[in-house]
Amino acid sequence: MSYVDEIIEAVVAKNPSEPEFHQAVKEVLNSLRPVVDANEEKFRREALLERLVEPERQIKFRVPWVDDKGQVQVNTGYRVQFNSAIGPYKGGLRLHPSVNLGIIKFLGFEQIFKNSLTGLPIGGGKGGSDFDPKGKSDREVMAFCQSFMTELCKYIGENTDVPAGDIGTGAREIGYLYGQYKRLTGLYEGVLTGKGLSYGGSLARTEATGYGLLYLTKEMLKMNGIDIAGKTAAVSGSGNVAIYAIQKAQQLGVKVLTCSDSTGWVYDPDGIDVAALKEIKEVKRARLTEYKNYRPNSEYHEGRGVWTVKVDLALPCATQNELHLEDAKALAANGCIAVAEGANMPTTLEATEYLQEQGILFAPGKAANAGGVATSALEMSQNSERLSWTFEEVDAKLQGIMINICHNMADAAERYGFAKNYVVGANIAGFEKVVDAMLAQGVV
Ligand code: NDP
Repeated sequence: MSYVDEIIEAVVAKNPSEPEFHQAVKEVLNSLRPVVDANEEKFRREALLERLVEPERQIKFRVPWVDDKGQVQVNTGYRVQFNSAIGPYKGGLRLHPSVNLGIIKFLGFEQIFKNSLTGLPIGGGKGGSDFDPKGKSDREVMAFCQSFMTELCKYIGENTDVPAGDIGTGAREIGYLYGQYKRLTGLYEGVLTGKGLSYGGSLARTEATGYGLLYLTKEMLKMNGIDIAGKTAAVSGSGNVAIYAIQKAQQLGVKVLTCSDSTGWVYDPDGIDVAALKEIKEVKRARLTEYKNYRPNSEYHEGRGVWTVKVDLALPCATQNELHLEDAKALAANGCIAVAEGANMPTTLEATEYLQEQGILFAPGKAANAGGVATSALEMSQNSERLSWTFEEVDAKLQGIMINICHNMADAAERYGFAKNYVVGANIAGFEKVVDAMLAQGVV
């Protein structure tokens, strides 16, 4: 059996009931076969893959808090510090009822390669809780965040582990978490990113993941002789990544026809109204059923369906495994030319393979959505030098980083004889730097 197959088998046996983690390990290791095969003897002696798939540290803790009725609630908190070979652990905190250890491990594992791809000195980690901020009062969210940070603060710091936002963790949650960290430690340091502008946040961080997705998509199309202007797109999700992806797409001349949330989706033939979407999601924290009140021409549908719309570009920006094989078939049948992942692992393995077989350009999340973490690293730099850069400065750096990532993934794919396979390219490009650092640092 090959080294890669042995490791995949061992991961499944050793980590039962963690299907998302298995999926991420399979996707990454399968695409690393050319590099692993070429270095098999050395990697086996160093147990390199065994070390890569085993987190350096996993922390799981109780998060008790009191709701508005005086009832005590208990959630589970997680922080997985996966790999610090190239820098302090960096990765978001997800607050969603679906969170479990396997999901945090899949996200942390992917984060290692994504962070490496940015070219910045950040290792991989991820955390979160099964707490659901939806429908909670501000006081309840604060009570949860303070309890969560009371435990988490023992394991993080500006030079060790720097968490950020993710699903369910936006500006409000980061603010409460930061306040509690400062109160407990007495340190005013850049321990979290995605902070508000009045206390150390970076301009353009809010927009970074969605904007970065479009910068990379534009470059990927350009490398293939296609102009992004004038194209149509389907976007899923209506959170942080989706909103700013739609905004930048429109600035680049793309007409975005859809968005969605966990209960339904919107089709707007005139193009999604970003101002309306922001008001519904960021101000009112309401459901997408409200969208029709702003745009009578639009349609609202219950359930899933964004990928059935005829578009040139598909940008999944909601959550993992939201684009299935039948969705990929529908996109291909409708003439879609490119899929770029704003979310983490939104496309199933079968759907990814199908899209690639059809010759549809496919940018994996670890490259396409790396703009968020890259700008988080820029926030860390600004915190260290106690300076704030302008929006234009940060945005220009973000564009440079995304264009670089795009070329790095394309070059790595080509070097190993997999031209235009950006999944292989992104994984190899991210892996090479991490492996180099791991081997240089000895058996740790
Ligand atoms: P948000 O919480 O702001 O938005 C998430 C969106 O996805 C919402 O519209 C939500 O709908 C929808 N959604 C969440 N879970 C599900 C589900 N199980 N089924 C259907 N829809 C769902 O999160 P973000 O925009 O920050 O994150 C979106 C994705 O992008 C995630 O995969 C995240 O890991 C990834 N990402 C985020 C980065 C960032 O900087 N924020 C950076 C890199 C990646 P509803 O409101 O109904 O729950």
